[in-house]
Amino acid sequence: MTHAHDRALPRAVRQAMPMARDVLVEVAKQHGVCIRPIPLKRLDVVTGKTEIIDVPCGATLDSKCPPCAKRNKQLRKAQCREGWHLDTEPAITPDEPNEEQRWLVEFRADYQAQREAAEKAGDDTTELEAIISGLDEEINAAGMRGNVLGRTAFKRSRSTRRRQDAPDLPKRKMTHTTLGRTFQGSDGKIYRPSLFVTLTLPSYGKVRDGAPIDPNTYDYHRAARDALHFSKLVDRFVQNLRRVAGYDVQYFASVEPQKRLAPHLHMAIRGTLPRAEIKQIAAATYHQVWWPQADEVVFDGDHVPVWQDCTGYLDPATGEVLPTWDEALDALDEDAEPLHVIRFGEQVDVQGVLAGTPDADQCIRYLSKYLTKSIGDALDGGQTQQQHAARMLDALRYEPCSPTCPNWLRYGIQPKDAKPGMHPGRCRGKAHKPEHLGYAGRRVLVSRKWSNKTLAEHKQDRRTWVLEALGQADEPTDPHRYIWRPVPAGDANVPPLALRLLRSVHERQRWRAHLRELEARATGQDLSAVEDVGRAA
Ligand SMILES: [Zn+2]
Ligand SMILES: [Zn+2]
Repeated sequence: MTHAHDRALPRAVRQAMPMARDVLVEVAKQHGVCIRPIPLKRLDVVTGKTEIIDVPCGATLDSKCPPCAKRNKQLRKAQCREGWHLDTEPAITPDEPNEEQRWLVEFRADYQAQREAAEKAGDDTTELEAIISGLDEEINAAGMRGNVLGRTAFKRSRSTRRRQDAPDLPKRKMTHTTLGRTFQGSDGKIYRPSLFVTLTLPSYGKVRDGAPIDPNTYDYHRAARDALHFSKLVDRFVQNLRRVAGYDVQYFASVEPQKRLAPHLHMAIRGTLPRAEIKQIAAATYHQVWWPQADEVVFDGDHVPVWQDCTGYLDPATGEVLPTWDEALDALDEDAEPLHVIRFGEQVDVQGVLAGTPDADQCIRYLSKYLTKSIGDALDGGQTQQQHAARMLDALRYEPCSPTCPNWLRYGIQPKDAKPGMHPGRCRGKAHKPEHLGYAGRRVLVSRKWSNKTLAEHKQDRRTWVLEALGQADEPTDPHRYIWRPVPAGDANVPPLALRLLRSVHERQRWRAHLRELEARATGQDLSAVEDVGRAA
């Protein structure tokens, strides 16, 4: 018998043995256990007992481990299926906030306080801000609308000339319904047709196998800006779509990477419009970016603006204060050109889909196919494609990703909310990262009246099903019963990660054994629902 501690074994044999710890992580993944759980302190106000509870990372922040990503993909599929061919108007009275929603907001409050304290102490708040923006996204993903702070910035009043014009499109009278038309067949059966639309960005140069044939003429500059502003273009498309359709069109869409590393959009639309009209809308849709110029480099290399307390960023040579973001916007006069205009490409694919057909299932699979991958993951590893990605990243390096991007300093403007330590080319925003390649928006876009349920309610559905199958009632918990608090890093009450993973794997095995017994009886049900219950158990 070979034994890893046996010193007599040749070094090469010992090294070929897997590390026990790595095997644990692999096993955890196979069991669908979150491998980066977040410990939270839960105070039970009824019993006064405090416990440390692991919450799957996918339930809180953006960074998702493979099991959490897979679980979220399953939930998204269920959500997509639920809403597509709805035959009654969804009820949209706001629900009572549930436990998850409450604790997310409490969690958010704690980070707000930490950020304010850090700011007061003059510490770097970048990391905390990243967490807060991740939490804000999660707050929305958990089925809450808007931002906890409400509308933070007052809206700038733009001159009417610069306001985006409605493109020249047919316009139907608006009816107050979210449902599409139905048709009755000669057999008396009601058909409920819907659409599956794919929208793509324009060509930046000929590509083969996901990489440009001629990198020197490929328009990386435009590709970078298009990726940065893609989500705005999608918003415009939806606005135009509703105007033309004459009803409150609902959609479930996913943004996915193409092989050439540009984002594109798949959209399930409830109801139907003529194919030619969808194409007409896509062709007429555009978005103008009204930002200051970012083409003429003002500061470069060592010659970069310097920070002065109480003043802001100064020209290092003249000491002149750079215009602030608001001043730069005000300086855009009536003759100003938009920094960028983005449009869709000519490739628009429109497919009619009937409720409950294999086609519909196929589309739903397609919509969620890449959800566990980031935009940069479309890389198949080929060298020419790697180089293509590197050039795309280069093009994004000095592109301002938002009004607060440090890159504005390069173009002689103080970023919005300027603070010390900003340096052009070193923005830590998502858009500049290799896994996002310019697109930092949400990957799944679901309209508000898509289904009657939020993602949180879909989770609850699956949990209820499993508990019922196990003969246990899913008692609604009193939302006021628990108070959740983050656990400070290095808290001695939190067992080591390996120990927590071992426990979760054990729990999961127990649940699986239960479910296997039920499998024979409850055929056709989705057993991955156990994933959600493992957490609640
Ligand atoms: Zn996880
Ligand atoms: Zn940036």
